[in-house]
Amino acid sequence: MRKPIIAGNWKMNNTIAEGMKLVNGLTSLVKGIKDTEIVICPPATALAVVTTALHGKNIAVGAQNVHWEESGAYTGEIAPAMLAELGVKYAIIGHSERRQYFGETDETVNKRARAAHRAGITPIICVGEPLETREKGTYKRYVSRQVRLALADRKPQCVAKFVIAYEPIWAIGTGKTATFEQAQEVCEHIRKTIAKLYDKKTADSVRILYGGSVKPETIKGLMEKPDVDGALVGGAALKAKDFSEIVKFNR
Ligand code: PEP
Repeated sequence: MRKPIIAGNWKMNNTIAEGMKLVNGLTSLVKGIKDTEIVICPPATALAVVTTALHGKNIAVGAQNVHWEESGAYTGEIAPAMLAELGVKYAIIGHSERRQYFGETDETVNKRARAAHRAGITPIICVGEPLETREKGTYKRYVSRQVRLALADRKPQCVAKFVIAYEPIWAIGTGKTATFEQAQEVCEHIRKTIAKLYDKKTADSVRILYGGSVKPETIKGLMEKPDVDGALVGGAALKAKDFSEIVKFNR
């Protein structure tokens, strides 16, 4: 049984004061929920305050990126141990915005995921095709290549703990959610790809999320699909009410 995860990506939004308002609202709205893992990923500036506020609560904290080196001359980057020290449990890696605007590649995604895992941080590895690849019909090949390169040289016991988020780029921030069938088709394909690269047991352990304009109205249908284990939520994670409704998809 894979425990569902609902993760909210705040992106470059919320000062500490704004973020804490959101955290306080959310904490009371999702109080007592234990059957779904709840994760919020604030910007780096708010991580220390938010992890302290959520200590011992049912909301885990994730970072939006992590570097692969332990320390050194990497201006602007954050090392895995620095996040672990704060109590950060997850790190989003290879978000399409990082790939598009900040030169993230499959190779750096692979290195970041490895470093995060070594520091006890669960990577949420993002994959997903652009619109033209969807329209050409080659999206499954595109996504399985991203998965293969992200996981290259990792051991099955390590991969089993990873989280993969399928986020078709054409659905991110556009209001255009993939249909439940489109989400299931690719999430199932990702699981089959992992089974081919490793084995069925490993593939059945990996949690695969869907991301792309997820809303309170769409989460239930998505979660009914057998290979969708949760959601990575952008815009709707900025409102406590919307995010809590997504978290409560099974209520
Ligand atoms: C995201 O940022 O990962 C995302 C899915 O954003 P949105 O929900 O706003 O499409």
